[in-house]
Amino acid sequence: MTTVTDELRSKLRDLLGAEYLIEGGDSLESLSKDFYWYSPVLKRQLDDKRAELVARPGNLETLRALVAACHDAGVPVVPRGAGTGNYGQCVPLYGGVVVDLSRLDRILSLDDGVARVEAGARLGTIEAAARAIGWELRCLPSTWVKSTIGGFFCGGSGGIGSITWGGINAPGNVKSVTMLTCEASPRLIRLEEGESLKALHTYGTTGLMVEIEMRLAPKVDYDQLIFSTADWDRLLDWTDAAARRGDWRKRLVTQFQWPIPSFFKPLKKYLRDREHATFLLLDRAQADEVVRFAEAAGLACVYRQPLSDPPKPPFITDYTWNHTTLWAMTADPAFTYLQSGFGRNFREQFAELHRRFPGEILFHLEWTAGNAKMMRGNAVALNPDAVVVGGIPLVHFKSEARLNEILRACDELGVFIANPHTFYLEEGGRHPNIADKRAFKSEVDPRGLLNPGKMKTYEHNPFAAEVAAT
Ligand code: FAD
Repeated sequence: MTTVTDELRSKLRDLLGAEYLIEGGDSLESLSKDFYWYSPVLKRQLDDKRAELVARPGNLETLRALVAACHDAGVPVVPRGAGTGNYGQCVPLYGGVVVDLSRLDRILSLDDGVARVEAGARLGTIEAAARAIGWELRCLPSTWVKSTIGGFFCGGSGGIGSITWGGINAPGNVKSVTMLTCEASPRLIRLEEGESLKALHTYGTTGLMVEIEMRLAPKVDYDQLIFSTADWDRLLDWTDAAARRGDWRKRLVTQFQWPIPSFFKPLKKYLRDREHATFLLLDRAQADEVVRFAEAAGLACVYRQPLSDPPKPPFITDYTWNHTTLWAMTADPAFTYLQSGFGRNFREQFAELHRRFPGEILFHLEWTAGNAKMMRGNAVALNPDAVVVGGIPLVHFKSEARLNEILRACDELGVFIANPHTFYLEEGGRHPNIADKRAFKSEVDPRGLLNPGKMKTYEHNPFAAEVAAT
């Protein structure tokens, strides 16, 4: 589908300069894509989708002029950070212009425990700068080295740190976001505290996020620990208890079912054959006590490394969250994944899924702080009852029909699934405030040009007819 006219092309060339307007070649192809291919369903649906142009504005004024020009020409505008999203979030469905925001990457201030940054700043850069002055990010995805904070807020949900601080939408984590509208004269709209929720995790459909204020946590010096045993239930009991220990300062609690640990080739010399493993990131001052506690429960501590400061590899986080899926797909491309939240009866849910789909599901579990009213300023009081067992189980893909059968079984068993096999916002997670998100979109994107087609319940999509016909 062609939406960009020669007139718009030459206008954008003048505005950005040839160096920052990508009009073809491998770069246009790769900057049109993300990690959608984790899903065999999205791979089939999105493989042939690409932008007509990729623009890389270097400041807000250029971005504003670029958006105004696209608005006047009526072409799709698809924001992009580092392109590490999983659901084709920044893959344009109808061509148009991908707006790469990674050059808007300044750290504006790090005062009083708040990071004020441009949206294209990398999380790894913010984390290192914050740690240098005694702070750290409250939560970050396992792609933190590369991904941008704007991409995390618009496409991600949580990850490392969420065991203590919850996800991006947990109360208090986000102080404000500033959105640029897609109008003839684009405006800036600043949303504070709870108001910002209507712009979070909206895949770039509710404006271009240009500035963010995120509250930080006091820095902790961490040890990276791995525990191992062949007894799944013993490990599960211990890990769940560890996750709920409010007095242990943790940043990561992850458990893998064998053979998942065998996929982590760089850790081969530490991990034991046929044993399940738990990965913890924990306050160094408490590590001796935790190792003693684990050994008393019959677990072996097979790995212990301090996390260096400033952060430098090795990072055990490189094997957790959605990185696990990447290691699995590298070992066997037939793997795909689910994103799930289990109930208090998680042990029964695991057993029933294994019974119904023998050999098809491998459990990769991540513990997070649920919706807890746990934060007061920078103080945390983890409520053990609010800790949630979730995770990103691996699925040995057989067919789309079989995948749908697994999704239906999860639904029947009360396992929540944020479906990673759809590019529709509404199907990819919980959106209790979708009406607010839709209303905000109509305010900032009256012509329906922002990442069109991703917000399924937004009525106005000027490109839908063409796609239905293809
Ligand atoms: P992109 O992929 O570039 O964009 C994501 C979405 O946000 C797109 O819809 C895009 O249009 C929109 N967007 C980007 N920037 C802006 C902006 N400034 N304004 C408006 N819209 C914008 N996610 C997690 O939450 N937790 C994890 O632990 C995690 N682990 C991952 C591990 C792997 C190996 C992979 C491949 C993905 C993982 N993800 C995870 C998903 C993804 O990496 C993160 O959400 C990441 O923070 C996205 O940032 P990005 O800069 O790459 O965003």
